[in-house]
Parts: sequence; C-alpha cells; structure tokens
Amino acid sequence: MSEAEIGLIGLGTMGSNLALNIAEKGHKIAVWNRTASRTKTFAGNAGELAGNIMACETLEDLLQAIEPPRPVILMVPAGDPVDQQIEALLPLAGKGDIIIDAGNANFRDTERRAQELEGSGIVLVGMGVSGGEDGARNGPSIMVGSDKAAWLRVEGIFNDIAARYEGEPCAARLGPGGAGHFVKTVHNGIEYADMQMIAEVYGILRDGPGLSAEEIGSIFARWNDGRLNSYLIEITAEVLATADPDSSVPLVDVIQDKAGQKGTGRWSVIEAAMLGVPATCIEAAVAARSLSSLKKEREFASRRYPQITRQQPGSTAALVAELETALLAGKIAAYAQGFAIMRAASDEHGWDLPMATIARIWRAGCIIRSQLLDSIAKAYDAKPKTTNLMVAPAFVDMMQPAHLALRVTVGRAALHGLPTPALSAALAYFDSYRQARGTANLIQGQRDFFGAHGFEKIGSRGQKHGPWSARAGKK
Ligand code: NDP
Repeated sequence: MSEAEIGLIGLGTMGSNLALNIAEKGHKIAVWNRTASRTKTFAGNAGELAGNIMACETLEDLLQAIEPPRPVILMVPAGDPVDQQIEALLPLAGKGDIIIDAGNANFRDTERRAQELEGSGIVLVGMGVSGGEDGARNGPSIMVGSDKAAWLRVEGIFNDIAARYEGEPCAARLGPGGAGHFVKTVHNGIEYADMQMIAEVYGILRDGPGLSAEEIGSIFARWNDGRLNSYLIEITAEVLATADPDSSVPLVDVIQDKAGQKGTGRWSVIEAAMLGVPATCIEAAVAARSLSSLKKEREFASRRYPQITRQQPGSTAALVAELETALLAGKIAAYAQGFAIMRAASDEHGWDLPMATIARIWRAGCIIRSQLLDSIAKAYDAKPKTTNLMVAPAFVDMMQPAHLALRVTVGRAALHGLPTPALSAALAYFDSYRQARGTANLIQGQRDFFGAHGFEKIGSRGQKHGPWSARAGKK
C-alpha cells in the first residue's frame, strides 16, 4: 500500500508541525518517530487531518507507505542523529529515493553526506527551514540545496506548504549540495545581529531614561508600523508587554539575562572568517551571547567598576526617534554583511546563489522577515552583482541620514557606559567601508618592518621593502 507522497522522520516541535502543514495542504504523508508513543499521540491528535497521515511503527513501514521515488524528510537534531538516520534508511531505500535533511545542519556536513551518497542512487537534499513552530505549521521559509531533478520531484509539496508573500511561495532551490543549509546558517547569523541590536536599543531605553518594559514595548509596537516593520520588532513589543503570571510584573524583568545559542550564529562567523568577509555585527552578537552567560563574572566586575553617572538625556521623544533611525542603519549594515558572506561563499563553492531570490523567500515565514527585505530583493533585481548593499542606490538614500543617528546613539551609549557591541560594530563597519584611504598602509609598514612581508607603493608596481632601521626584522 504505497499511498503517501512523502515521508517524515522526527515528530518533535518542527517535524510534527511540518507534517500537519503538509497534510493540511492535501498531501498524504507517512510519519515515523524513534519513540513510538510520540507517533501514536501525534496521529491521535491530528483531528480532521488524520485522513492524510499514515502513522508508521517501523522504518520499513514508512518506506513501504510512500510512492517511489520516495522523498523522506528528516526533522531530527543536526549532527549525529542525521547520520544515524541516513545509515538506517540506506538498506531500505532504493534508486531515486530522496532524503531531505530539513534540520539546521552545518552545510559542510550536508556536502559530505551528499558526496557519501553519490553513486548509491539515493539523493540528499539539504533544506533550511525557518519560522519556528508557527512557521512549520502555517508556512515557513524554505531554502533548498539539491540537484535540480530532486527538487522538481518535491517542489510542488514545498511550494504548497511555504509562507507566501503577495502570493509568491517563500521556497526556492538556491543551489546544489550545501547551498540551502549555508543560506539558512547566514539567515540565522543575521537573526543574531538583528536580535542583539534590538536588545541594545531596549537596554538604552531601560537604563538611560529608565523606561518600563511596558513603555518600551509600546515604542516597539509603534516602530512596527514604520520603517522597522518586521517580525522581530513585532514579537519584541509582545514580549515586553507580557506580564509574569506568578508576580504580574513584566515577564522580561524576571527573565535571567543569559542567552543561549546552538551553533548557526557561530558557524556564520567561522565561515565569514574563512572567506575573509567582515561579519562584525554577527560576531558582536555571538560574542554578546557568550558574554551574557558569564553572569557571575559580570556581577563581580560590576562591583569593581560601578555604573558611570548618567547625564539626563534630552527629550525622550527625540531619543526614541533617534534610536529608530539608528536601528535601521545598524540593520542595513548587518544585512550587508550577511549578503556579502553569501556572495563570497557562492563564488568560493561555485553555487551561483540568486541573491534577489534569497531576499524574496525571506520576506515571509522566516524569523528575519521584514519590510527591508523587499527593498533588498529590489536592489538585487536591479543589479544582481551588487557588491555591498550599502552602496545600492536605495540603501545609500536610507544610510545617508541614518548613519548620523547611529553615530549619536553609539557615542552617547559609550559615554553613559551602556554596551552597544552590535550597533558599534555596524558603525565601525560603515565608517571603514566608506573610507577611501584607510590606515592599512601603516599595518603594511609594520609587517614589512618585522617580517619583510613587503608592500605595494602608490604609483609603482611590484612588492617593495622599506629602508627600516637596524632594528628591522628583530621581533
Ligand atoms: P525536537 O527536540 O522538538 O525534536 C527532535 C525530534 O528528533 C524528535 O522527534 C526526536 O525523537 C527525534 N530524534 C532525536 N534524536 C534522534 C535520533 N538520534 N534518531 C532519530 N530521531 C531522533 O527538535 P526540533 O523539532 O525543534 O528541531 C529539529 C530540527 O529542526 C533541528 O535540526 C533544529 O535545529 C531544526 N530547527 C528547529 C527550529 C525550532 O524553532 N525549533 C527552527 C528551524 C529549524 P524522540 O521523540 O524519539 O526523542
């Protein structure tokens, strides 16, 4: 009995919701979970969608339930569980079957797995899914790396379940092999930077004029109606407005200030460093999460270096307006870095990543969805080889006034001892990027002094060395 169009392994948060989404769109799906009780509970709770769900007790049953060539989604934790599941599927799968790893895999693992499967007749698709639980259930953004034939086989299902932006599905094949997982990784890297900058602005409003969580929440809610319109701003407003059910104080005031992280932010930074692309906003965000977890050390240090006496800011209304614009400038710098990482990776791996398409499929469904992504898509449509978003005409128009607000924000925060690592990184990146004559001439002089590394001299060709003193070369 092979009725299902697709199979799914791993009925956790993401898998169960993705399966319901697929069933709801009229596709028959076979599901299996390592812990059998979870499969039973899932099927039992599927309600009117149960008719499209085939709950399987064994992996053999799962594969028999799907019509060949059989696509099987893996929605299990990244790393060893994916390797274990592929190994378990191999003896049961046949030529043309498609294993779709939809977890947050490191793209290097996806490339390795695709290579290991070469010649077996079984194809690996690396699929990044964003949108969390709600996205999986009601429409995620889907970033695919695969060969074209495998994508053609499953495209219909994924287009049906993806989020839509003005009717267009937010799902696309972006390149071969690990391309989809790479794009998902950078998506998360940008997400780290976006969230960190929002948190920094919250900190300025909380610790500067001393606004309450509710007051800051209503500022974010207002911003969500303007240029900063985005999912992250929207949920920030909601988080700030939520009360603790136990004490009825704002919930955010009783949440420990220690942020977790799983790996995609760090991977973005590592890949950027290996590609030689500055990703300072993402780096600052990753480092800020690490620093946040050093709670005891921070508490100790805070007693050694008490808070700087704060000057009263001018009007709160003026501060709020300035922060809104500063956040926009920071966000543009972070996105510019993210897209620059993808561009470099595309060249390095020969993926030919479609930048405009990436921006388009991020406009709905995913965590970083925002109004800005529509402008990014348009910028790449107009000039697909845009080197850096900050020099695309529409973004120059936005950055010209916005960087002034970013400058004032970072400067004032520094004077008041309020940390703004990601916003500061954005400003430093912007200022370094727009500097026609930088200071690396001195670095080259130093390098040549101690290591005879040579330098290029303005107006002449070839490597030169300086007439340094007798101390040169002695480290
Ligand atoms: P959950 O922890 O909710 O579920 C994990 C599922 O994987 C469970 O069904 C579990 O089965 C199964 N599983 C765990 N280990 C193994 C194993 N060794 N072999 C077979 N099955 C195993 O995870 P999520 O649904 O949150 O995440 C799944 C993937 O999706 C991850 O890669 C995650 O990074 C990614 N992701 C998560 C998002 C989110 O918002 N949660 C967003 C986007 C991507 P069992 O019941 O037996 O424990």
